[in-house]
Amino acid sequence: MSVSELELERRQILKEYRSLLSVVRPGTELTDRKRIRKAFNFAMEAHKDHRRKSGEPYIYHPIAVAHVCVEEIGLGTTSVICSLLHDVVEDTDYTLSDITEYFGEEVSRIIDGLTKISDIFEQTDSLQAENFRKMLLTLSDDVRVILIKLADRLHNMRTLDALPARKQLKIANETLYLFAPLAHRLGFHAIKSELEDLALKYTDPDIYSSISRKIVESEEERNRFIEDFTKPIKKSLEEQGLNFKVLGRTKSISSIWGKMQKQEVPFEEVYDIFAIRIVIDAPEDREKADCWRAYSIVTDVYRPNPDRLRDWISTPKANGYESLHTTVMSRQGKWVEVQIRTRRMDDVAEKGYAAHWKYKESKTTESSIDKWLYRIREILKTSEKDALDFIDDFKLNLFSDEIFVFTPKGELRTLPVGSTALDFAYSIHSKVGDQCLGAKLNHKLVPLNHTLKSGDQIEIITSIKQKPKPDWLNYVTTARAKGKIKTSLKEERKKIAEDGKEKLERKLKQLKIENTHENIQKLLSYFKLPAPLDLYYDFAIDKLDIKDLKAYLSDNEKGGILSYLRNPFGKSRISNFEKEQIDPIRQKLKEKPDTLLIGDSMEALDYTLSPCCNPIPGDDVFGFVTINEGIKIHRNNCPNAVQLMSKFAYRIVKAKWYTGKSIAFLSGIKIKGIDDMGILNNLTSLISSEYNVNIRSINIDSNAGTFEGNVMLYVNDTQHLNNLIAKIKKIKGVKQVSRIGK
Ligand code: MN
Repeated sequence: MSVSELELERRQILKEYRSLLSVVRPGTELTDRKRIRKAFNFAMEAHKDHRRKSGEPYIYHPIAVAHVCVEEIGLGTTSVICSLLHDVVEDTDYTLSDITEYFGEEVSRIIDGLTKISDIFEQTDSLQAENFRKMLLTLSDDVRVILIKLADRLHNMRTLDALPARKQLKIANETLYLFAPLAHRLGFHAIKSELEDLALKYTDPDIYSSISRKIVESEEERNRFIEDFTKPIKKSLEEQGLNFKVLGRTKSISSIWGKMQKQEVPFEEVYDIFAIRIVIDAPEDREKADCWRAYSIVTDVYRPNPDRLRDWISTPKANGYESLHTTVMSRQGKWVEVQIRTRRMDDVAEKGYAAHWKYKESKTTESSIDKWLYRIREILKTSEKDALDFIDDFKLNLFSDEIFVFTPKGELRTLPVGSTALDFAYSIHSKVGDQCLGAKLNHKLVPLNHTLKSGDQIEIITSIKQKPKPDWLNYVTTARAKGKIKTSLKEERKKIAEDGKEKLERKLKQLKIENTHENIQKLLSYFKLPAPLDLYYDFAIDKLDIKDLKAYLSDNEKGGILSYLRNPFGKSRISNFEKEQIDPIRQKLKEKPDTLLIGDSMEALDYTLSPCCNPIPGDDVFGFVTINEGIKIHRNNCPNAVQLMSKFAYRIVKAKWYTGKSIAFLSGIKIKGIDDMGILNNLTSLISSEYNVNIRSINIDSNAGTFEGNVMLYVNDTQHLNNLIAKIKKIKGVKQVSRIGK
């Protein structure tokens, strides 16, 4: 770079820095501003030789993270300093004690937390849920660590373009799995929506671009509708002397996509692509009254749907959200959602705490932030210790409503939607759950995994002989039941492990291996097991046997342990059994280092197409190395992909279709329409004779003049399938055709 280019770059950096200073809270004292300047200079110096993947100077990243912390999260001086320094210890030669020396204990503690979290995230082969638990433990020290991490992730997502595709997918999935729910939980609605949209852009680029294109294309029509719709409301609001703003708010791309999937309709048929938002300027003591006044005006003009009134003003959501929602019938016969709130409520809903201090007097200090941070910590602490339970738990609480069911004595119980008979048993008492043999629902016997509906009355049948089984984890949805079952299973496991311990000790003696703590640790690292209990248990159930121990001995003599540690897949729990299964696959993958080609002459490599999403050529896919079923191919947008990628990143292999051959792949389509005598005949003749596709199964249900059918058939690729879908749509009586499984 030439001198003038460098000078230009330097000026650009200073501009970014000044823009950061301009958003730092007004009234920040001079000493604080000086500390920020010091942190900026320090970070500049530390990162001076670094560039981001995009080529720009590294310092842009910490400045941007600090910017997010102030403007979008609402943090203060200390967090700005920590954001500026957040990657210094991890990426440069400066150490934590340098940070302590220059910036003191508090900053250094936060940087330490941030560095540790980064480490955890870098290790792609450890479980995400476990990482999350660690993250929460760190959190108990200082919640700012997690908020800065959230800002860091947001900026990384905004600049994800520069990374290679594989990393993009991993980071995007991690974001969906952890960071978006976290942002939601903490009430950062704008950040949550942005994270979800950005993630969708990488996990499902086609869907992302098609929906965003359609939003733009339909904008004009939508604006016209909104104007017509809001005109009479505005007039009445004005007559009442209210100060207000009326906006048409288009939903985020990911939430529109969510609705398309849930309602199984194309973009054009999602009725609530946008909502009308009325934002009122009201003094704090009149907020509630004015919102209801506006509500009364809206419902005078349009007829409301009584089932769709939500009052989050009288009882705000747990994350602080306040608003009044109603759905009314427009003159064009379409339902329209109307949200009514004050300006303060609107800001808080969009920006979380960042908006709060704007409304308090100017004397807001760090201490009011502390209070808020304390509340966040409380929100996060009220969850169970097990990380997975924590995530399940808060997903349950966020994304589902409740059902009301009754005990035989008529006692009311509330459970999340989707709860089963077994969940109900555990909600009564963990002992009732553990000994649950069956359930009677409204006096009829039902299986344990029967899904309950509001109003059901359930009687649980128990037996003292009954014990929880691992399967049961699939039968329940509540965090409580899952936790109890896991605890019981763990106890059972402990008992078995005790037997295994004795057995192992005898074997060690035979093999002349001393039963010392050190040797047990070596065995653990050799078999990639986390704790002695796991070793004993595996030994008790013959998952490890004497052969394995001998193998360990000979390997150990060659100093072989290290070679296992270097194995990129090695840090996971891999027993000998798994190793035998996975190693040959890995070996073959090495010979084809780039990408797994599917549809190629791959008999040697054991892969199958996963039935959960039935991928066909043309779909974006990845391979997942299973324990004993070889490689399974999933679509990138498979409902299970997020879980697989974020929890088992080390087992993901790149895959793409080899298109040289025409092989038939199983896929499914769903057809809806108006029932007609000839429809089945027309369908099958089109599919099999005209279009030459083999049908594997066809299921058609008709009900009150309409029908719904699922057809499983063999096609060559996505184009073949799409052509067929287009043809079927043209059959008289067919109203809707879509692919099954997303
Ligand atoms: Mn960073």
